[in-house]
Amino acid sequence: MAKTVFHKILAKEIPADIVYEDENVLAFNDINPKAPTHILFIAKKESDFVASIAELTDQTEHVPTMLIRTARMFAQEKGIDGYQLKFHVGKDGGQEVPYVHLHFLSQQTLNT
Ligand code: AMP
Repeated sequence: MAKTVFHKILAKEIPADIVYEDENVLAFNDINPKAPTHILFIAKKESDFVASIAELTDQTEHVPTMLIRTARMFAQEKGIDGYQLKFHVGKDGGQEVPYVHLHFLSQQTLNT
């Protein structure tokens, strides 16, 4: 399988504007933001990698919940109380990068 741009960000092969990181999840600003705050949350562990929500397995079905929980805690910590969470699924669903990622969009500005 070809490395996606998100694999390269994780491997530090290309830079990203990282706003949050823990053992399991990395979050960085979307390079082409569709809202004043537009962050992407991805799983870090190779064993958690899945290309699409449509391809979740018993081993990876916890990943969307993990990303949503992390985004919720991030929002609470940053005082963002209004936001949208989105998964694009498949080409017809607007998914360009085959690496499950949660879009976090808010009209509120992130205070770093
Ligand atoms: P999707 O259309 O759901 O696959 O979303 C992929 C997102 O990744 C788009 O919103 C892109 O703007 C974003 N993106 C692509 N390359 C990068 C990058 N190098 N750094 C940050 N975001 C990126």
